[in-house]
Amino acid sequence: MKRSESFVKTLKNAPSDEVSRSAQLLLRAGYIYKEMAGVYDFLPLGRKVLNNIIDIIREEMVALGGQEVEMSSLQPKDAWVKSGRWDDDVVDDWFKTKLHAGGELGLALTHEEAITNMLTSYVSSYKDLPLYVFQFQKKFRNELRAKSGIMRTREFIMKDLYSFCATREQHEEFYEKAAISYTNIFKRLGIGDSTYRTFASGGSFSRFSDEFQTICDAGEDIIYIDHEKNIAINEEVYNEETFKMLDVDPAKLDKQKASEVGNIFTLGTKYSEALDLCFNDENGVRTPVFMGSYGIGPARSMGVIAEKTCDDKGLNWPEEIAPYKYYLIGIGEKGMKEAEKLYNLNPEQFVFDDREKVRNGEKFADAELMGIPYRVIVSDKTLENDQVEILSRKTGKSELLTTKEFISKIPKVLK
Ligand code: ATP
Ligand code: MG
Repeated sequence: MKRSESFVKTLKNAPSDEVSRSAQLLLRAGYIYKEMAGVYDFLPLGRKVLNNIIDIIREEMVALGGQEVEMSSLQPKDAWVKSGRWDDDVVDDWFKTKLHAGGELGLALTHEEAITNMLTSYVSSYKDLPLYVFQFQKKFRNELRAKSGIMRTREFIMKDLYSFCATREQHEEFYEKAAISYTNIFKRLGIGDSTYRTFASGGSFSRFSDEFQTICDAGEDIIYIDHEKNIAINEEVYNEETFKMLDVDPAKLDKQKASEVGNIFTLGTKYSEALDLCFNDENGVRTPVFMGSYGIGPARSMGVIAEKTCDDKGLNWPEEIAPYKYYLIGIGEKGMKEAEKLYNLNPEQFVFDDREKVRNGEKFADAELMGIPYRVIVSDKTLENDQVEILSRKTGKSELLTTKEFISKIPKVLK
């Protein structure tokens, strides 16, 4: 990316109504644009980070055996009436609308009903199971409070995976695999050390659900961590019964604010019974499918990562999800020319600050604000020794490399 060609500009100040630090920085650094409270657009840099996160999650979902679909955001009323969730008294954050042609529909807030309904067309025998289907798909929720930037929005992409099993045992085996997969994902996203598998309230088919909670001051949840066992308890199930069941000592639990980046849930036969998703077992007996659901919020994860890694100067992305690896600045006539050459080797690696009439100090500040992992300076001075200067955003340490050494680090563009 060339700064001179990008329509996005960094901002000196964030909107005064934005309270969360990550949101302020994402807005100022040009990653997102605010349409209204709880509604944001992803600009080129923001979209790249979000997609990097999505790519990591997708890899793990495919490794789990998931098949990817993309379902509609428009959902017919009938399926929801059957599951008993259409009523606003049951689910209060629906966006609903009337069709000109008659009838009502809802904007998807989740997809249990829709996918259960869809699979009645394809599942009929135990041989069709188990089955795992996932998507990255827009959800709409009329959230009452939206004050944490992209951590809680009224429209967001969710990774939702649904599992369909023949038996509870089959389900439980997959559920544990999915939990391991979630642990891998958050490790790869750079928040593995601060993300805990957390016992939370379950439903009619399981005592608990599992939330993946990342310690974060801007989070809205309270969790209690057992560091020895590496598990946590959501305050909603913080009681004697839970301590006993998990064999934890409440005196040893560490209370923290956290944000729920993902969760997994045993649904059992709640939706399959309501929507008649059944299969014939080995004896030909018609049996409801045993289901689970597994969510992750890629944008909430992005907000949490931004929140946890930022400092007074700006964002600070882990390399795995950064939009670009290098922020390239040419100083002086020769420096600018050489920088242009480096950029052309592989434009996907660089934010090239080629803006004319912008002070170097301003470019340095933008490199920090945007949180690009490495700042590369090519100046007439460094070129005297045929060198470039690389500064790590994470460690603040800089080193000089010969141009040749630096070039060898840049992946070649496949032609
Ligand atoms: P919360 O309790 O925070 O409202 P939830 O229980 O409603 O979350 P789910 O419906 O299970 O969450 O959604 C799965 C995942 O989607 C969550 O773990 C979270 O990462 C993400 N998510 C949920 N609501 C939002 C939102 N309003 N904005 C962004 N991401 C969200
Ligand atoms: Mg919610």
